[in-house]
Amino acid sequence: MPIYTAPTRDTRFVVNELLELGSYGNLPGFEMVSEDVTEAVINEGGKFCAEVLAPLNRVGDEHGCVRNEDGSVTTPPGFKEAFDQFREAGWGTIAAPEEFGGQGMPHVLGFVMEEYIASANQAFGMYPGLTNGAISALIAKGSQEQKEKYLPKMISNEWTGTMNLTEPHCGTDLGMIRTKAVPNGDGSYAITGTKIFISAGEHDMADNIIHLVLAKTPGAPDSTKGISLFVVPKFIVNDDGTPGERNGVSCGSIEEKMGIHGNSTCVLNYDGATGWMVGEENKGLAAMFIMMNAARLGVGIQGLSQAEAAYQNAVAYALDRRQGRALSGPAEPEAQADPIFVHPDVRRMLMDAKAFTEGMRALCLWGALLVDLTHKAQTEEEREQADLLIGLMTPVIKGYGTDKGYEVATNMQQVFGGHGYIEEWGMSQFVRDARIAQIYEGTNGVQAMDLCGRKLAQKGGAAVQAFFKVVGEEIAAAKEVEATKDMAEQLEKALGQQQAATMWFMNNAMQNPNHLGAGAHHYMHIMGIVTLGLMWLKMAKIAAAKVDSAGDDKAFYEQKLATARYYMDRYLPDAGALRRKLEAGADSMMALGEEAFQTAA
Ligand SMILES: Cc1cc2nc3c(=O)[nH]c(=O)nc-3n(C[C@H](O)[C@H](O)[C@H](O)COP(=O)(O)OP(=O)(O)OC[C@H]3O[C@@H](n4cnc5c(N)ncnc54)[C@H](O)[C@@H]3O)c2cc1C
Repeated sequence: MPIYTAPTRDTRFVVNELLELGSYGNLPGFEMVSEDVTEAVINEGGKFCAEVLAPLNRVGDEHGCVRNEDGSVTTPPGFKEAFDQFREAGWGTIAAPEEFGGQGMPHVLGFVMEEYIASANQAFGMYPGLTNGAISALIAKGSQEQKEKYLPKMISNEWTGTMNLTEPHCGTDLGMIRTKAVPNGDGSYAITGTKIFISAGEHDMADNIIHLVLAKTPGAPDSTKGISLFVVPKFIVNDDGTPGERNGVSCGSIEEKMGIHGNSTCVLNYDGATGWMVGEENKGLAAMFIMMNAARLGVGIQGLSQAEAAYQNAVAYALDRRQGRALSGPAEPEAQADPIFVHPDVRRMLMDAKAFTEGMRALCLWGALLVDLTHKAQTEEEREQADLLIGLMTPVIKGYGTDKGYEVATNMQQVFGGHGYIEEWGMSQFVRDARIAQIYEGTNGVQAMDLCGRKLAQKGGAAVQAFFKVVGEEIAAAKEVEATKDMAEQLEKALGQQQAATMWFMNNAMQNPNHLGAGAHHYMHIMGIVTLGLMWLKMAKIAAAKVDSAGDDKAFYEQKLATARYYMDRYLPDAGALRRKLEAGADSMMALGEEAFQTAA
């Protein structure tokens, strides 16, 4: 069975030493985060995920979810009991507002837990994960009555939530949705239509499921300007807050899919179901983006999580499996062969994974801190700065993080050779589960367009300029330190590639928008590379300052420095190649017409 240990030492490094969470004690919610509280979340959360959720990962993959004849859905054996334990321990409430029963702690700690949950069992994590997305939308756009009715039970995970956007004929282009919402005359609406691919759409783990549904009211514009958001509970909530009459929403079927079998991906049929509008009519898209931005960061964490879980197993295997001899001469002459760990190609894959997971963990938790600062920083200027940066970072965390997470997961499968392809070892599940994160919550192509088409130009380029400033300042500071000087210079070159690519877009994309579309994926990856470079430079600086006096921790900081060096040597150069691809523009990409793609017999 695959192994999983929560990487608590590394989390502690990021939370305490890189982000210095304790230094924000003057901000609301941060004041309660003593070292003990942080330790409890990291240690106990990690333990819960490793001991309760990880052993169910394989079970979920093998059993999947079953739709019964009456339309109910049974989750894999053990999921319901684990969710009961999860709920009782309050693991879903960490960063939720106290006003509605949450613990009001920083998102940083919520994200720590999200990583552990998703590494241990991504399919399981999606039940509370989607609930969090729905909670965010209700907090931002719900009426006070809606908040009071739904949020406490959703935050406590007595009820779960879903996000209903996709329909058979539209996923990316939501302007085309056909689900109708007709006023009932009493303030409620009759919702009719079919939603597909709805994660956690129906299951047996909670007393009620609160669906957030995009639909169009009669006469609304037939575009994104005509979308409204509705809350549609599976059981209509009684005045005393208990689940009452069954609503007109049912699970038509469960999708057969490549991975995350433990999560019920449902076709949901709305047949005149009673719903209530959330926010303003025709402003559903804005509400949806709130839901999706929260969810996109969660999906970015899934990229990290599958890479981390696969990496841990690949390391164990590489140390155990013996094949061939080290190029520099036998490492263990008395044995018939050396562990495959000695081979540089195996080491390349493991180092790539280590550099990604540790860098990505730092990035995700920095992202979480930015989310907190957006609401809680002391000055308006700091709040705006955080908002600009997290807006820019969200498609990078989601898009680059999951592209790279998938690549790492397949490389970790490769470490197992043929055994990685055989289900027995569990490596195939990591690859299959990681794959979806590149697709849902807006495909990574859509993330790239969000980054390049919207975020770069926003407020006259203020966000990307703020980012350049943050990286530039870090480089300048690291150049002053002997141990990090050359790393800073390497990052400076990569930053120069990103700046040049940005300039190329500015000079060329207006006259031909296809240039933007053709280069967006490359740009997102350049930015991912530079951003992880920023994280590694910061981590290297801390490690360099501490390594000589670290006592028992010396090896930890030495490893950080060596991994930072690897990152600078092996990741950053890709920024130059990607820039050259981007600057090739759209012409050769778009040159051929339809007929050229048809295979001639
Ligand atoms: C397991 C699973 C779980 C899911 N969970 C949910 C859920 O809980 N709720 C929900 O509402 N949906 C959910 N989805 C749906 C998911 O978000 C969509 O599948 C995804 O957003 C893509 O939409 P689509 O499948 O219709 O692809 P399409 O929109 O048809 O896209 C097809 C291809 O065209 C590209 N493309 C489309 N438009 C553009 C454009 N303008 N620019 C560049 N490229 C473009 C895409 O990147 C993609 O490569 C889930 C899907 C799966 C498979």
